[in-house]
Amino acid sequence: MHELSIAESILDAVERQAADHPDARFHKIGLRIGELSGIDADALNFSWHAVTQDTSYQQTALEIEFCPRRHRCEQCGQQFTVHDYRTDCPRCRDTNTTCIGGEELDIAYLEVEE
Ligand SMILES: [Zn+2]
Repeated sequence: MHELSIAESILDAVERQAADHPDARFHKIGLRIGELSGIDADALNFSWHAVTQDTSYQQTALEIEFCPRRHRCEQCGQQFTVHDYRTDCPRCRDTNTTCIGGEELDIAYLEVEE
C-alpha cells in the first residue's frame, strides 16, 4: 500500500525533528498533499494510526491540506489553477503550459503541545 510507506516516511521525518527537540510533544502534523499525488487521505490516516501504534506519536493527528494542480503558461507567464482538466492558459489561451504544482507531499508544520 502506497500510503503505508508515506506514513512511515512521515514518521521518520518527525522522529528526526524530535531528536533535535527532545522535550517537544507533537500534537498535530500539517501535511500539504498535491491532488496529482494520488494519495487518499483516509488511507493515509489509517496507515498513520497503524505505524504510530504503541509509539509516542499515537496521539498525534495528521492535518491534511490538498493542493490543487497548477500550471504556468510558457507564452505569457500566467500561473493558474487547473479546473476540469483544462490546461490552456486562461489569459492568452495558449496550450503550451507546464505543470508547476499538484504533486507535492510536504510536511507544512509540526504543532507542539505546550
Ligand atoms: Zn498565457
